[in-house]
Amino acid sequence: MKRYGLFIGGEWLEASSGTTFDVLNPADRTVVGQAAAGNAADVNKAVDAAARAFPDWSKRTARERSGLLTKIYDGMMKRKEEIARLMTLEQGKPLGEARGEVQYAADFFQWYGEEAKRIYGETIPANSPDKRIWVLRQPVGVTAAITPWNFPAAMITRKVAPALAAGCTMVAKPAEQTPLTAALLAEIMQEAGLPPGVFNLVTGTQAEEIGDALLADSRVRKLTFTGSTEVGKTLMRKAADTVKRLSLELGGQAPYLVFADADLEQAAIEVTASKFRNAGQTCVCTNRVYVHHSIKEEFAATLARYAQELKVGNGLHEGVQIGPLIDEQALDKVESHVRDAVDQGARVLTGGRKLRPSENETGCFYEPTVLLDTTEKMRVEQEETFGPVLPIHAFETEEEALALANNTPYGLAAYLYTRDLSRAVRVSERLEYGIVGVNDGMPSTAQAPFGGMKQSGLGREGGRQGIDEYLEVKYVSVGLK
Ligand code: ADP
Repeated sequence: MKRYGLFIGGEWLEASSGTTFDVLNPADRTVVGQAAAGNAADVNKAVDAAARAFPDWSKRTARERSGLLTKIYDGMMKRKEEIARLMTLEQGKPLGEARGEVQYAADFFQWYGEEAKRIYGETIPANSPDKRIWVLRQPVGVTAAITPWNFPAAMITRKVAPALAAGCTMVAKPAEQTPLTAALLAEIMQEAGLPPGVFNLVTGTQAEEIGDALLADSRVRKLTFTGSTEVGKTLMRKAADTVKRLSLELGGQAPYLVFADADLEQAAIEVTASKFRNAGQTCVCTNRVYVHHSIKEEFAATLARYAQELKVGNGLHEGVQIGPLIDEQALDKVESHVRDAVDQGARVLTGGRKLRPSENETGCFYEPTVLLDTTEKMRVEQEETFGPVLPIHAFETEEEALALANNTPYGLAAYLYTRDLSRAVRVSERLEYGIVGVNDGMPSTAQAPFGGMKQSGLGREGGRQGIDEYLEVKYVSVGLK
């Protein structure tokens, strides 16, 4: 049983309230550990620590910061299995997926360890022979991160690694469902020799109080958030008072366009992987499939067969491919989306019910579900389902497919499957999404700039662009007097 305090100023502290909260395994509702229940007073302490650490950390050489990030990467690799197991315990994803997430999460430390050395400035030709203009890129200062439960490790490292590489310090608040993975990462950073106060962790159940304290503090120069569009909008409004810089990675409504010339077998494999990964609980999961009408029945039958074969259960059990949903609220949403679609005429090809894989598995499990003939009026095509439900909708023309795909306030990830190169170029250029997978259902990687358009967010995480989110641009104009 894991028990963690708050990590502030390089030390593990009790919460100022003196209380802790239980962390539950979503597969069987047993207690897997406890975390400290931090509040606004703890946030204040953590920001103090981050502000104290900033002058020294930001002055270290890029090479030194790079070396520390590489050590954190090595630390994560050494404890890969331990992190993966803990993640499956508190979040529910199958162990194989958890291992994949640890690698993906660690990759951000490796990538930004390298990028730390490439924070280049610029010189600009001036209008006078007696002037010089230099452009510097400097760390923004103390930053705050608020992260969700669906990727308990990667959503933290994707923020911490570029922030630290840039020379910023950070206070992070993980989701109340998954604080233990976050604390284990803090322990790894401590063991790697990260100076006190550079990374601080405030766990807790009072998300709004903690968020408000971070937002109200003018020493915090930037907030980076991953979570729901609704909470993101609230944070954006509150950030206005101190004009904080913002990165927001919010909801998605990913369409998957399958054209008649696609390799159908391969497309079905990729759609299944993209849809059912993490039980459908990722913001880039396929949420809607648009398929050319000529191949609709064949493609839908293949998808239904694949979905039926997926094994549902406790993520620690051998062979399990789909774990539980995170909680009752998530299950209610999935059930109501399916009911709404069926009431409006969608056909259930497979699934459509909640299930109990065994006596002890009392969590919120739901059958992998494939719905055929869904329409734009249905909630499954309008909202993010965040569950293992795959709606299929037939189209006639490329133009129609594009209109359907773009008809949403979201713009995070979109996918298309085709063998026609011209079509791939045309369609990918017109999709109003920050990430487009062409014949690729798994585009996320540390070296690419992940992020959304429209109401899916602001800013990019990962890649060369990801570090810009933590840097201020300053120009110095020098007169040669
Ligand atoms: P999800 O629906 O994925 O749980 P949320 O947006 O509710 O997404 O949660 C993402 C993160 O935002 C979590 O760490 C959660 O605790 C935090 N959070 C939720 N509500 C607020 C709020 N009002 N202020 C600050 N943080 C919040």
